[in-house]
Amino acid sequence: LPCTVRDLSEAAGIPAMQIQRILMQEGVMAKINDTMDEELTEFIAAELGVDVDFVQPVTLEDQLLTSIREAEDPEDQLEPRPPVITFLGHVDHGKTSLLDRLIGINVVSGESGGITQHIRAYQIEKDGAGISFVDTPGHEAFTEMRARGANVTDIAVLVVAADDGVMPQTEEAISHAKAAEVPIVVALNKIDIPGIDPNKAMADLSANGLQPSEWGGDIEVVKCSAITGEGMDDLLETLLTVADLHEYKANPHRSALGTSLEAQQESGHGVVAKVIVENGTLRVGDNVVCGDSYGKVRAMFDTLRPELAIQEAGPSTPVNLLGLDVAPAAGEHFYVLDDIAQARELAETRREQTRKETLGSTGPVHVTLENLFDRLEHTEEVQTLNLILRSDVRGSLEAIQKEFTKLDHPEVKLKTLLATVGGVTEGDVQLAHASDAVILAFNVVPDEKARQLADRLGVQIRRYDVIYKITDDLKLALEGMLRPEE
Ligand code: GDP
Repeated sequence: LPCTVRDLSEAAGIPAMQIQRILMQEGVMAKINDTMDEELTEFIAAELGVDVDFVQPVTLEDQLLTSIREAEDPEDQLEPRPPVITFLGHVDHGKTSLLDRLIGINVVSGESGGITQHIRAYQIEKDGAGISFVDTPGHEAFTEMRARGANVTDIAVLVVAADDGVMPQTEEAISHAKAAEVPIVVALNKIDIPGIDPNKAMADLSANGLQPSEWGGDIEVVKCSAITGEGMDDLLETLLTVADLHEYKANPHRSALGTSLEAQQESGHGVVAKVIVENGTLRVGDNVVCGDSYGKVRAMFDTLRPELAIQEAGPSTPVNLLGLDVAPAAGEHFYVLDDIAQARELAETRREQTRKETLGSTGPVHVTLENLFDRLEHTEEVQTLNLILRSDVRGSLEAIQKEFTKLDHPEVKLKTLLATVGGVTEGDVQLAHASDAVILAFNVVPDEKARQLADRLGVQIRRYDVIYKITDDLKLALEGMLRPEE
């Protein structure tokens, strides 16, 4: 923790001049706001005959938000809340069409180039029970939100086109959903296509560890068609059944907290933020802080009927919110505070922090094979090293994973989040970022975008072309003996 000359002077009650004089004797010309590292601070303190103790300053953020985040909801205030559903799947398998069908609108045809560009979030009602949908464009967005600690999803619907079966992005989506530890329901879509044999896709699913319940497994596979509407009721009912099993609850009687899904500056409206309430009830007039933005909720609108103004939004409800001063990033948490001045102070402190972080480089924060050993907590508890495996052929994936099973370590268990054929993608890097994993690339290279993202996020990608070298490195890493890659 760096300490300035002024900090030390104020803390010790000693004139800054006196400190500067000692520094000068050591050959250091210091101005009053210059920082000294811990060692130098201790040296000066010793010269002055004072004791120093370094403590983390208690910030407003710590005081306020931690208490909000960690506040326990009394059991008698908890009420069932709608499940939040996310669609994942291979491109063109029908995610957009299915959601449109479920909510009764048609967006597919109006989209530019057929690409879903924005996060959509809606709440619908089925037999008196609410269901919320958050549709992220591609699983990268899903994982990116998770990387920010935003676990808004309760259930993942994996959309698989019956004519195509499990495709590479389906496999990725499965890994992302599994890493998020949410239940998976499969929507086996396009069942209307003549001559389709759903058994082929079902076999693909079970080969990927998703055993359909009609084959004795525990994964609900709903056969459906976004075009004819077949199976839609069945899909909604299945989602409600899974939700019932998990008894999702929240406390509508407290002030709200939740997540921003996306936001933009819109001419004539100011900032419009699409947020989802996770707990509590959000009301017009509430003071909100969201990342480095803040404001008083000026108005809220229904996401399905954008002209419909609403006064309050309970748990699992998505709304378009007006009143924030700048657009918060996707995945930022929001909190309601009693005092607008506190909200402003928090937002401004964060802006200042972000500014400092962009000035100074932050360095890697994720696990690497070199820092693994130092990060181990050396406790009785077994810890997990998450790995993402990419290879040119399926055979090598199997061989490498077989080697993994031979690595037996009392403190560390290896967990493969994803093992697929093909080069390292941005999605892999996002997954590694969200789940703190190392990426091992065997006979494949990361694409340029993936490499840049990995650099930026501090995710390690290690490349190999000999299998035993991977196991050797892992052994060394587990002992803390691995040298950095040249
Ligand atoms: P997404 O990329 O997963 O969001 O897929 P879209 O919803 O954009 O659908 C891709 C294409 O598949 C579109 O041309 C849809 O009309 C078509 N499609 C979607 N669902 C079905 C379905 O149930 N049956 C048939 N036959 N076509 C479908």
